[in-house]
Amino acid sequence: MTNIIIIGGGASGLVCAIKAAKNKNNHITILERNSECAKKILATGNGRCNYFNDDFTIDHYLSNNNKILEKIITKENKEKVLSFFESLGIVPKIRNGYYYPFSNQAQTIKEVLLKKIESFTNIEIKNDFYVEKVEVKNNRFKVFGKEELTSDILVISTGSFASPKSGSDGNGFKLLKEFNLRTVKTLPALTALTTKAPFLKDWQGVRCEVELSHYEDEQLIRKEPGEVQLTKTGISGICTFNISNRLIRGLSSHKEVVKINFLPFLKNISKYELLEWFNNRNSLLNNPNIKDNLNALLNNKVVGVITDILKVTKEDTWNSLSTTKKEKLLSLLTEFELEIDGYQDYEHAQSTSGGVSLEEINILTMESTYPNLYLLGEILDVVGDCGGYNLGFAWLSGILAGTKLGE
Ligand SMILES: Cc1cc2nc3c(=O)[nH]c(=O)nc-3n(C[C@H](O)[C@H](O)[C@H](O)COP(=O)(O)OP(=O)(O)OC[C@H]3O[C@@H](n4cnc5c(N)ncnc54)[C@H](O)[C@@H]3O)c2cc1C
Repeated sequence: MTNIIIIGGGASGLVCAIKAAKNKNNHITILERNSECAKKILATGNGRCNYFNDDFTIDHYLSNNNKILEKIITKENKEKVLSFFESLGIVPKIRNGYYYPFSNQAQTIKEVLLKKIESFTNIEIKNDFYVEKVEVKNNRFKVFGKEELTSDILVISTGSFASPKSGSDGNGFKLLKEFNLRTVKTLPALTALTTKAPFLKDWQGVRCEVELSHYEDEQLIRKEPGEVQLTKTGISGICTFNISNRLIRGLSSHKEVVKINFLPFLKNISKYELLEWFNNRNSLLNNPNIKDNLNALLNNKVVGVITDILKVTKEDTWNSLSTTKKEKLLSLLTEFELEIDGYQDYEHAQSTSGGVSLEEINILTMESTYPNLYLLGEILDVVGDCGGYNLGFAWLSGILAGTKLGE
């Protein structure tokens, strides 16, 4: 009999247990600090659990070692994840490539996972079990909490720092001290970005379709279309989250700027074409004052911020503006610049970037360089975009480790 202890009954730990239980010689114990497993899954996708994405490619992931990671972000592994959920009876509802359970309830994903676990006699769940310490004695793992347990194999799937109230508060890294594994600095990911500007209170609460461009030291890093939320501290929303992972990592040593295109339907056109577009629009509207012209196009709070910066009067029309002011207006509309100086913390972040270096992991099995120690999910130096990529990696790491352990 091989004893396997899994610390953390979240997304990756539960899947690993199900796969490993196929081998009846394994006895698996899941230790979960909360009174029940999978608490975080309930909060995902606004309670609907966006559990995967059809565009499962390396472009949606960030790691210090993308070359290692890309070995498992493959079509074959995409099929493994999808057929795993199919085998649990989940029928997907797919919107723009985002996978949700057809029930539209995260509860469904939690329940099918726990029901499957219940069906195995060789899996035991111990809830309300906070693991405080891990040691190795005589080639066996000793796990300390409300009881002392030993195992032949140890799986750490404690999550990282994001959303500490769900149970993942970074304590997994303390457990790992025993093993001396290299880590990449951890930072909040998929979170709102902050900036200092006098106008923030004036646009607070607006949501609008834009295209965001992230520049690092004036070099374009990424463009991201979508709905931005303009807040009293900066910007939020999915398109902001998607640029946040890379941007936050650069903040300590680079100038990080986000430019907002409030006219995303005019992207990829030259300055000259933009000027022409505005000239035509202005003729069509019979040269109204600038505010009326813009109010017919954009949220009036955004118009207020732009016209205040431009210092236009009530009488100013497009035709009365100097060439310099016209250019300034077009640049405010299509390249509204925000210098980012911070971000929201782990309480508000949906994920963590950084973690245990992939150089310490056999990426095909998730076994670490420390024999019989497996690491899964967010504790590793892997973060994905919004859209099912983080759960996607958590499930996959659980499947890969569990399949190896279930052989
Ligand atoms: C609000 C929110 C919404 C999200 N929405 C999505 C989404 O729609 N799609 C998507 O792909 N991703 C989403 N994510 C991210 C995704 O949920 C995580 O990346 C994923 O759950 C990580 O899986 P994991 O197994 O590594 O860790 P977790 O799912 O965090 O599980 C870790 C488990 O370990 C337990 N634990 C920790 N320490 C100990 C200890 N010492 N002893 C015992 N137990 C311990 C915790 O209580 C927890 O149950 C969202 C995250 C948040 C916060």
